[in-house]
Amino acid sequence: MPDNDRFILWSLFTEIVSAFDINPEEYIDDFNKKYEAVSNESYNIKKRAIKELANSIVKQRKIVKASNERKKEEIERAGIKTIRFPSLSLEAQPDIAAVIPTSLGFISLIKPEVVVRKCRYCGREFIGLSDDTISSLMQITPIPVDYYYACDECVRTHFGYPPPDILFADVSSAPGAISPAAAKYLRLVVRTLKRAKRKDMRERKEGK
Ligand SMILES: [Zn+2]
Repeated sequence: MPDNDRFILWSLFTEIVSAFDINPEEYIDDFNKKYEAVSNESYNIKKRAIKELANSIVKQRKIVKASNERKKEEIERAGIKTIRFPSLSLEAQPDIAAVIPTSLGFISLIKPEVVVRKCRYCGREFIGLSDDTISSLMQITPIPVDYYYACDECVRTHFGYPPPDILFADVSSAPGAISPAAAKYLRLVVRTLKRAKRKDMRERKEGK
């Protein structure tokens, strides 16, 4: 006499695990063992036992998958850390993982603009980025906001980073480290800042 319950419950088992991209055949031994243990029970008890087995397999798979993904992320982060900033000395290399834009989809990146700022640390005037530009940058890089309010000398002493026009030039050319959109925006920031600094220097020389 064919075992109808077994057939139905194997279908149920297959349906549950297949929904999570698990091949039921891989677990046929577990299924058989579980089914044998309850084969003399009522259909409902057998069904509950098989459902429990399927759910525990799915749960186990999810845990393994999450752990694999975490490991992959760690490896990727470690890989990024090995990128070096050519414009900086070896001792001055920042923790690249803290500098690389996360590029998790930007909300709005406004056209970069510069303003004359007073350094928060030494009080000197310097060419800095506008508040809106800083907001845009904060969407794509985890650099602390205070960094943008420090002059070119103070960014090095207080943050260990070079000024934005050097830092972002390095970051935007680090191969494969950031999304093309983030790199493009950083290059635009670099160009805008460099141009403004050159103009400022020229004007100072001319004694304006
Ligand atoms: Zn300063």
